Amino acid sequence: MITNPLCVKAPAKINLFLRITGRRPDGFHELVTLMCPVALYDTLTLTPENEGLHVVCGHPDVPEDEFNLAARAARLFVETAFPEASRPVSGLTIHIDKTIPVGAGLGGGSSDAAAVLTALNRHRGNPLSTPALMELAGRLGADVPFFIPGGAALATGIGDRLEPFSRLPTWTVLLVYPNVAVSTAWVYKNLNLRLTKDEKKLRKFHFKDRFFNVAEHLVNDLEPVTIKAFPVIEEIKRLLLAHGAAGAMMSGSGSTVFGLFKTPGRAESAYSALRNNQRSQNWTLYVADLLIHRPVIA
Ligand code: ATP
Repeated sequence: MITNPLCVKAPAKINLFLRITGRRPDGFHELVTLMCPVALYDTLTLTPENEGLHVVCGHPDVPEDEFNLAARAARLFVETAFPEASRPVSGLTIHIDKTIPVGAGLGGGSSDAAAVLTALNRHRGNPLSTPALMELAGRLGADVPFFIPGGAALATGIGDRLEPFSRLPTWTVLLVYPNVAVSTAWVYKNLNLRLTKDEKKLRKFHFKDRFFNVAEHLVNDLEPVTIKAFPVIEEIKRLLLAHGAAGAMMSGSGSTVFGLFKTPGRAESAYSALRNNQRSQNWTLYVADLLIHRPVIA
């Protein structure tokens, strides 16, 4: 399908706002979430092969078979962009250099899948439009379309309605992964969603036409559910705030906690302080910038 190896980077994301507004009869949750990519990347290398679709990753929690989201993305792209008669016969190996922690609420698998869709489409001369690519992405997972255009976005519905949102300060984030993988399905199953009508109204986001404000808007409905099982998340939040974060919260369904810092220097100081803390021996820390704006494609 391709002639030379392609190397692509897939960024992580954080959720700066996440409110569950309801549950549909089909079981899907309706939500409002503000997501922003951050400069922490998996690196994927796509290498042409004579035949077959292979994944090499080496991470104990990442499947190397057809359950890998990146492999599913490659298959779906080829089947959609090339009807059977014109389908290239050659194969593909996807090598994933995994930096984004797995089961961490940072959307690593979704981002890998979006990176594969975008890279293959560009390499093949863009047979699919961006909306078509996003539609394909949606079939792979709720968070995958978000990663296609890049930049921060507000997602509504079941996460499938996206609009760009760039009214965010240029924070630097300190991400702390406490080395516990959390299942998103488990978190939703344990979410108590008994809401009155008034509570539902309150859950609407109030920053749509305004600047995002940490004191008012940093909220995640899934956080109490995950904290109950993993109290270490609360401890990390406290430490981040004690070391100068303007705000600290769990991302998505967890377990990663992010602290927002006004400058890279403050984030680096907090990184050093936490690194020297005995409690953090088992945690993984990253300093990264927010990727608020959509990249300009030449
Ligand atoms: P989500 O909220 O989508 O579950 P997450 O960031 O919490 O996102 P991921 O790191 O994306 O979690 O992994 C979720 C699950 O997806 C893992 O159990 C993993 O086995 C599976 N998975 C499939 N493909 C990948 C991939 N390319 N990278 C990471 N995980 C993958």
